Amino acid sequence: MNSLSDIAGVLKAAKRLVFTGHVMPDGDCIGSMLALGLVMEREDKEVVFVSPGPLPSIYRFLPGVERIKVSPSLPEMTGDGPGLVVIVDTSVPARLGDFLPVIEELQHSGYRTVLLDHHISALPYADVNYIDPDASAVGEIVFDLIKMLGHEIDKTIATCLYVTVATDTGGFRYETTTPQTHRKVADLIEAGIDVRAISLQIFEEKPLKSFKVLSTVLNTLELSPCGRIGWFTLNLATANHLEVEDEHIDGVVNYARQVRGVEIALLFREVEGGYVKVSFRSKNYVDVSKLAGEFGGGGHPRAAGALVKGNIDKIKKAVLDAGMMFLEQAGTGN
Ligand code: 5GP
Ligand code: MN
Repeated sequence: MNSLSDIAGVLKAAKRLVFTGHVMPDGDCIGSMLALGLVMEREDKEVVFVSPGPLPSIYRFLPGVERIKVSPSLPEMTGDGPGLVVIVDTSVPARLGDFLPVIEELQHSGYRTVLLDHHISALPYADVNYIDPDASAVGEIVFDLIKMLGHEIDKTIATCLYVTVATDTGGFRYETTTPQTHRKVADLIEAGIDVRAISLQIFEEKPLKSFKVLSTVLNTLELSPCGRIGWFTLNLATANHLEVEDEHIDGVVNYARQVRGVEIALLFREVEGGYVKVSFRSKNYVDVSKLAGEFGGGGHPRAAGALVKGNIDKIKKAVLDAGMMFLEQAGTGN
């Protein structure tokens, strides 16, 4: 693992920068990319942004968001000099989706790669890696990096960074929220951000479709006999009928976690190509990044995911069995 000043050095040395993140990008991914990219542009560098997946509409208000090209291909770059791909919030190469082969091509043409991440399950797959599982969001790392680079965090940058932290901490409710998180957020508010306006955008307004999807999925809730595992199911036929996009289902799994007595909450969602996307959440003590790891996924101790190939009923049974084992091993957590 490299130090933050290694990262600062690599960023300083680069002339052409490509910022990117994971499929199904979230607030931390988009906000971190924009905050660091917009700052680097102030240093007379060429900066482009690429997302391997569509951006949820709730983030369309972010400054610079129109610059993000949603495509697996690279926007045209005109400059020359040392090239760098900066990957944020993406714990494993597979999460780069269709942009992974493009990055590999860039590496062949001399670009270096940097990873900034905070997942406990992250692999140091880039040339230069900074992974801090104690950071509530990659935005916290970017905050430190921008200061180290000697740049001001103005209202534009602060707005992007506030979104990273507010979304990844679930509105400052998860145990990842530290005194340091709040100190940084205090600085962001002092930079003049409009907390109320941002909160309305990211927490209090959703497309109508989200509510239709929510009402359908809530009806699928099932509980294990012990009441400690709760899960939702969204099969492909229903998803297609409702024309569900990723952003409509985001956060729905959390409702299963809210059921009194539930420790592990799951969402099984059939997607194209014979895969099932499993979302894992836990309330207090089960490390779901490890549980998701049993199925080729990963994430954080209280929020993780995996994309599993196969029949949904078989996958469900395997995940529920593994979940019961994890519950037994963890005891009650007391
Ligand atoms: P969600 O369930 O909201 O899609 O994802 C929750 C967390 O799990 C996110 O922090 C994300 O990084 C991680 N995650 C989701 N899907 C996958 C996956 O397929 N593989 C890995 N390694 N992590 C995932
Ligand atoms: Mn994150």
